[in-house]
Amino acid sequence: MRLRNIPGARETMVENEYVFTEPEGMAGKWHEVFGNEHPIRIEVGMGKGRFITDLAMANPEINYIGIEKYSSVLLRAVEKQNEIKLENLRFIRMDAESIIEVFGQGEVDRIYLNFSDPWPKDRHAKRRLTSRQFLERYDKILKKDGIIEFKTDNKPLFDFSLEETEESVFKIQAHTYDLHHDELMNEGNIMTEYEERFSSQGNPICKMILERR
Ligand code: SAM
Repeated sequence: MRLRNIPGARETMVENEYVFTEPEGMAGKWHEVFGNEHPIRIEVGMGKGRFITDLAMANPEINYIGIEKYSSVLLRAVEKQNEIKLENLRFIRMDAESIIEVFGQGEVDRIYLNFSDPWPKDRHAKRRLTSRQFLERYDKILKKDGIIEFKTDNKPLFDFSLEETEESVFKIQAHTYDLHHDELMNEGNIMTEYEERFSSQGNPICKMILERR
């Protein structure tokens, strides 16, 4: 995601009712935030938030939380939410590395990872959102039969993610190297901003769904 510093974005986040900028200590409290016991699904690295906002609009009986590191990127999603005010949508501005301080054990029903940054250098592998280090974190917050859905057009990152899954408590429930031509896996697919951009350039989209062994 190209970053442009937008003046005032940080301040907007701190003051906004839909955004949590100091989420540490919120573990176990998200159902209280939403005021119901509906399942909680999160997108890690949501960017401008189109995917999670579309999901929240389509599924009012599910709660959604988008996580994004940068205020300037998150701003777009927050501006939209200020207009549409979905009860079942919140955002957290944070680095997902500290995700286990923010969600309790089994508090999350599903995790979406879409077009995560590839971090191509080997020494940065643990920063990839599908690294074994991140999978270990997800294991702590994801409920027993929860799943992780990952989409990318980056084949090396996808292959890395398949390998990392082998080293984790998760297994591959399903995967494809060409989502948009896989009738079964593409059913009900909601496109992300990056997905639309890359597929319109002719790049096939890879998707995997992980579940516990
Ligand atoms: N998911 C969106 C999509 O598919 O259109 C955005 C994809 S963009 C390439 C990746 C986003 O993940 C960026 O906005 C980046 O700031 C965010 N991101 C990367 N690493 C992160 C981390 N550790 N914690 C939170 N956000 C992160």
